Amino acid sequence: AAKKAGGACIVTASEDFRRDLEFRRRLQRDILHASQRNEFDLAFQPIVDVGELRAHSFEALLRWQHPELGRIPPDLFIPLAEESGAIIEIGRFVLDRALSIAANWPAQLTVSVNVSALQLSEKSFVRMVRETLKRNGVPASRLILEITETALIKNANAGKILDDLRRLGVGIALDDFGTGYASMGYLQQYRFDKIKIDKSFVSTMNEEGKSAAIVRAICALAKEISATVVAEGIETEELLSLVGAAGCDFGQGYLFARPMSALQTALFIEKNGWGGVATPRRPAGEM
Ligand code: C2E
Ligand code: MG
Ligand code: MG
Ligand code: MG
Repeated sequence: AAKKAGGACIVTASEDFRRDLEFRRRLQRDILHASQRNEFDLAFQPIVDVGELRAHSFEALLRWQHPELGRIPPDLFIPLAEESGAIIEIGRFVLDRALSIAANWPAQLTVSVNVSALQLSEKSFVRMVRETLKRNGVPASRLILEITETALIKNANAGKILDDLRRLGVGIALDDFGTGYASMGYLQQYRFDKIKIDKSFVSTMNEEGKSAAIVRAICALAKEISATVVAEGIETEELLSLVGAAGCDFGQGYLFARPMSALQTALFIEKNGWGGVATPRRPAGEM
C-alpha cells in the first residue's frame, strides 16, 4: 500500500510540475503583449532618511494587471521576462515612465529604478539611459539604478558599464545585499553609492540571533567604502529604531508607506515630502 501511495504521489507531483510549467509558459507569452495592452503600471515606495524621517528617494516597482489572472507579483513575472528577453523592452518602459513621473517631483527627490542582469549586458544600455534622462528633462543626479549581485555575476563587462553610468552622473545601489554570494568581492571590485540590506536581515533584527550584528557590520563596512545604507522591510517602529541604532542611513518599508500609485505618491510628497516629515503611518490602498 505504501508503494502504491508513493507512486500516486509521484504522479501528482509531476502533474503539478506540468501545470506549473504550462502556467509559466502562458505568463511568458502574455508578457509580450502586456506593455502594448497597457497592463503595466508603476508603484512608488519612499526611501526615508531614518534620522530626519524625510523622503529621499522613491523606488519604482513594476505592477502587472493580467486581464484574466489579476495581479501577478513581480517576483514571479520578472524572472520569466528575464528568461525570454522581454525584460529589455519592459526595462526601457519602466525607466521612461519612472523618469517622466519623477520629473514632476521636487528636484531634491531622486527616483530608484531596478535593473536586470540582461539589461546591463545590452550594448546600448548606457546610451539608452542617457537618452531617456534627456527626453524627460531629468538630470542624471536624480536617478539611482538598483542592481543585484546576480546581475554583476552574470556580466563580465559590469565594471565598465558601472563606470560609464557613474561618469554620466547616475547613482548605483547594490540591491538585496547579503542574499547573493561573494558579496565582499563585489564591494572590493566596484563602487556603490548605496547598499540595500535585504529585508530578511532587517525583519529579524528584533529576534534572538545574529541579524542585528550583521546589519551593524554591513553599516560599518559601508562607511569604509563611502556608501550609504538602506534597510529594506521596516514594518514597525521597533525595527526603525533598531536600524537607526545599527547605523543605517535610510529605511524603506510598510511603516512609512506601501508602494503607491503615481497620484498617491504626488499626494504623499505634498503632505510629507521634501521639507516635511514622513510620519510613520499606514496609508490605505497598497499597490
Ligand atoms: P526589490 O527591488 O528588493 O524591491 C523591494 C520589495 O520589497 C518590493 O516588492 C516591495 O513592495 C517590498 N517591500 C517594501 N517594503 C516592505 C516591507 O516593509 N515588508 C515587506 N514584506 N516587503 C516590503 P515587489 O514590489 O513585490 O517587488 C519584488 C521584486 O521584483 C523587487 O525587489 C525587484 O527585484 C523586482 N522588481 C520590481 N519592479 C521591477 C522592475 O521594474 N524591474 C526589475 N528588473 N525588477 C523589478
Ligand atoms: Mg530594488
Ligand atoms: Mg531590494
Ligand atoms: Mg528584494
